[in-house]
Amino acid sequence: MTFATKEYCTGCSACYSICPTNCIQMRPDNEGFLYPEIDMKKCTHCNVCTEICPVLNKKKYPPAFAVINNDEHIRSKSTSGGIFSVLAEAIIEQDGIVFGAKFDNDFVVVHGSVDTVEGIGVFRGSKYVQSVIGETFKECKYNLDNGTKVLFSGVPCQIGGLKAYLQKDYENLLCVDLICMSVPSPKVWRKYVEYKTKASGSRPKTIVFRDKNPHWQPSSMRIEFENNTVYTAASNKDYYLRTFFSEICTRKSCFHCNFRTLERQSDITIADFWGIEQICPEMYDNKGTSLVLLNSPKGNELFQNIKGKCRIKAVELEGAIKHNQRAIKSREVQHKQSMNKKRQNLFAYLDVLPFDRLVKRYIYDSVVTRGYRLIRICMGKIKRSIIK
Ligand SMILES: Cc1cc2nc3c(=O)[nH]c(=O)nc-3n(C[C@H](O)[C@H](O)[C@H](O)COP(=O)(O)OP(=O)(O)OC[C@H]3O[C@@H](n4cnc5c(N)ncnc54)[C@H](O)[C@@H]3O)c2cc1C
Repeated sequence: MTFATKEYCTGCSACYSICPTNCIQMRPDNEGFLYPEIDMKKCTHCNVCTEICPVLNKKKYPPAFAVINNDEHIRSKSTSGGIFSVLAEAIIEQDGIVFGAKFDNDFVVVHGSVDTVEGIGVFRGSKYVQSVIGETFKECKYNLDNGTKVLFSGVPCQIGGLKAYLQKDYENLLCVDLICMSVPSPKVWRKYVEYKTKASGSRPKTIVFRDKNPHWQPSSMRIEFENNTVYTAASNKDYYLRTFFSEICTRKSCFHCNFRTLERQSDITIADFWGIEQICPEMYDNKGTSLVLLNSPKGNELFQNIKGKCRIKAVELEGAIKHNQRAIKSREVQHKQSMNKKRQNLFAYLDVLPFDRLVKRYIYDSVVTRGYRLIRICMGKIKRSIIK
């Protein structure tokens, strides 16, 4: 039996009111504020006072897990450990429908739905562009109203939007959100695709933002063209990934995102498990590990269903989040004034300059910053080789 400490106890009297043996009294301290006092001779240690305390339970964090899909082929095509595919399969096996983000024929990122296991492949792989929701909220509601099981996946603000649109809870809806760095501009993405098409003299056939060949970290951009040429570049070299990771083509609302919190609107949150090599080395092989947070009993129930298809290890949430601060911290805090200026300029010249010139002008860092980054990369490589 534990009470909130004096700094946090609000004197709400819930513990006093619920105690089945009336062994808790609310007594004033020397300032005159009421605090619970317990008569240990009458206490039966039922613990109900601790379980309902709104202060202690506010900090109840979702359970966290490191997850690796047993199917190595699917994991190699997924961004982290391939958790999304197993969740989606489980819903489709229950005659359900799955919503997620895919490319259309022109490599515009759009939301869509599938109801076959083979269909899930179009959603695999993070597309670092804000996707177009289109009619999918309406399609989702139609299916929910007909009693079909639905898994809707997206970035946290899309899940927030869906819940706002639906205006009620559905037992047959399961929402999966991602820990999201930010959503980049679809127009910047289009300019990049046009630039790449022109440079190679051919249309892209497939695009992978986070190719794992040869490793998950660091990953690279990979584009296969219709003329069978292939472009690959590390994330710190590719012009698009540089604009994304340097946060200068991000939507304005991402700078003060309200959805970066552990009080998620989704049932399950999935992410890259950064720092897994330190937290749980047996779950690290540099081929991708997912971080999974279970935010609701519904999410927990689905997770129990997929246990045979994955390697799973329970982890401390605090440790996992320490390496993925985007789960909780608003970018506003981190965003620098100088970046705002660069962002403004990038969009001002987006229609004027060729993509490569634009990026060179507004993305490249000073020699000092580049030197600092090189040192960090080397340190990371040394750390990983020691762990191996
Ligand atoms: C814009 C964006 C920013 C991200 N930022 C981070 C981050 O800062 N930290 C972190 O740990 N992880 C981040 N992720 C999530 C991460 O990249 C993986 O999606 C996650 O680890 C799931 O891995 P998986 O192996 O199960 O993936 P996959 O099978 O590759 O996951 C695919 C899932 O991502 C969804 N998806 C793909 N592109 C989009 C999109 N444009 N919009 C909405 N949903 C999309 C699909 O619908 C599907 O649900 C981000 C993802 C996106 C799309």
